[in-house]
Amino acid sequence: MKILVAVKRVIDYNVQIRVKEDGTGVVTDNVKMSTNPPDDNAIEEAVKIKEAGKATEVVAVTVGEEKAQETIRKALAVGADRGIHVKVDGMLEPLAVSKILQKVVDKEKPDLVFMGKQAIDDDCNQTGQMLSALLNWPQATFASKIEVKDNTLEVTREIDEGLETIEINVPAIVTCDLRLNEPRYASLPNIMKAKKKPIEEIVASDLSLDVSPRLEQLKVEEPPKRKAGIKVANVAELVQKLKNEAKVI
Ligand code: AMP
Repeated sequence: MKILVAVKRVIDYNVQIRVKEDGTGVVTDNVKMSTNPPDDNAIEEAVKIKEAGKATEVVAVTVGEEKAQETIRKALAVGADRGIHVKVDGMLEPLAVSKILQKVVDKEKPDLVFMGKQAIDDDCNQTGQMLSALLNWPQATFASKIEVKDNTLEVTREIDEGLETIEINVPAIVTCDLRLNEPRYASLPNIMKAKKKPIEEIVASDLSLDVSPRLEQLKVEEPPKRKAGIKVANVAELVQKLKNEAKVI
């Protein structure tokens, strides 16, 4: 079984995001970037499945600028076997990324595609679902547990009402939740070894796809500043303030 894992380079989750003065986006120059957090879970799960003898190869793929290769290197350092870097200038929308991933799937013919449930930069939560539709493959989103069976997967999903367990046929798309596992750290020797693992480069414009934007971004602005909280002396004062000042009860 071959597992393809999609990993995206995003602004590190610890960074305080700043909006550009002209409101055209967020500041990315000299900002720490790293792998989208649920994509780390996706890689971890694929590597664990391989270590359990249920997969033969884990391939990490990213769609992004030159520097997105760091994301592939990190995946290689924690156990992926090889990487594919589809080079694009700037950011693409989920539909464009899904079309590119569809081409990669057509070429690589994986049995499973693991992805993050959501990218923390655009918060779209669309790419896995769109890829599933383009490929006409079953999907299991928000996976917090994955069990590989003969030609099927049993996936536990994090949903609003609690946990849902479904069984889907392989090949399939699975989008991973942060609760799926605890991603390992890359050790220094493994970081060094990862430098020797192969990364194939594909230029997105050679794929003859329409990746033009479907959305027009009008403005990006900071969320309103939150007012400082206050301390109340007792429950009676709290109830009085909720009633008369906040007017919420
Ligand atoms: P999104 O639909 O943008 O919230 O992204 C969901 C998931 O799709 C991410 O967690 C990644 O696994 C994958 N993905 C999105 N964009 C890219 C990209 N440029 N390169 C590789 N994977 C991506």
